[in-house]
Amino acid sequence: MLDIKENVPLAPMTSFRLGGEAKYFVDVKTVEELKEALTFAKEKKVDFYVMAGGTNLLISDNGYEGLIIRMKISQAQVTDGLVDITAGTPLIKVVNFSAENGFADIEALAGVPGTFGGAVRGNAGAFGTEIGNHIDEVTALDANTLEIVKFKKDQCDFSYRSSVFKKNKNLIVLSATLKLTPADIAVCKAKVMETVMGRTKKGLQGAKSAGSYFMNPKIEDENLLKEFEQEKGVPARNKVVPAGWIIEKAGLRGKTIGGAQVSENHTNYIINTGQGTAENVIMLVSYVKQQVRDQFGIQLVEEVNYLGF
Ligand SMILES: Cc1cc2nc3c(=O)[nH]c(=O)nc-3n(C[C@H](O)[C@H](O)[C@H](O)COP(=O)(O)OP(=O)(O)OC[C@H]3O[C@@H](n4cnc5c(N)ncnc54)[C@H](O)[C@@H]3O)c2cc1C
Repeated sequence: MLDIKENVPLAPMTSFRLGGEAKYFVDVKTVEELKEALTFAKEKKVDFYVMAGGTNLLISDNGYEGLIIRMKISQAQVTDGLVDITAGTPLIKVVNFSAENGFADIEALAGVPGTFGGAVRGNAGAFGTEIGNHIDEVTALDANTLEIVKFKKDQCDFSYRSSVFKKNKNLIVLSATLKLTPADIAVCKAKVMETVMGRTKKGLQGAKSAGSYFMNPKIEDENLLKEFEQEKGVPARNKVVPAGWIIEKAGLRGKTIGGAQVSENHTNYIINTGQGTAENVIMLVSYVKQQVRDQFGIQLVEEVNYLGF
């Protein structure tokens, strides 16, 4: 029997610690429970929204009038040489589990918060590693038909922070298999540890934020590209430069509106300083986008997802 709750505060379930209440809320631990939850939403004639770790999400202060389904289906195993993981498993567990079983390739994703399902849906990446590159097959539930659908890697349409699952809200990631390179356990574990320590040193892991707010834009302005390359001493790959570099150039480091701030540490992070509201974040984000557009003719696009606006 599903335990559907009403008027549930969502802010504590997000890394931003922002947002109002969900009219209906349920944790699902099995595929059957997920189907039941979807049926409930249909019967009540309300929308549903799948939420997982809440680490890439800005929820309106007014909350959400539908059913929030939180993915808690969590399991990891090795089957026929593939690492087989369900969507609600925290990504750090996936990284550790792979290392402990002697599989390399995804150590650089250590410290990316949230769940495996969220990472697959958004093709999470860090330090040149993207989860999509290591997928063998994804199993999803079609929320319209309640049928299970399988996607081989080349059907997943993975690109920079995107996938077929991001483009189609009705595809809910249930699990996926990873095809990873066998490697020495101790070496994998050391790489994981090194990555986690590197991230911890940056002092951003505990901040009330949703990680990088904007996607890194591709720019056409040759002078700006040259400036970036001279300043950083590295070429801009495919003309893409870090959003944070442009925000910094626009003079927005530390810019604050109410309780929302462009991080002093990392200019592509928007931080809730403690007293913030989602509205403050939206106002600051609009300001940042407008300044970057006016000063450089660049249209920043959000990596963070919005709910309830
Ligand atoms: C401090 C910090 C650092 C971060 N660093 C990085 C980084 O280095 N690289 C990076 O890529 N990201 C980073 N992020 C962003 C975030 O961790 C990732 O986007 C993560 O993969 C989101 O997973 P989640 O489970 O929290 O998803 P949520 O925030 O819960 O959801 C995000 C979106 O995915 C959808 N979704 C979630 N689960 C499923 C599912 N099973 N099926 C279908 N849709 C689903 C939701 O509907 C929502 O639209 C960072 C965030 C923080 C707070």
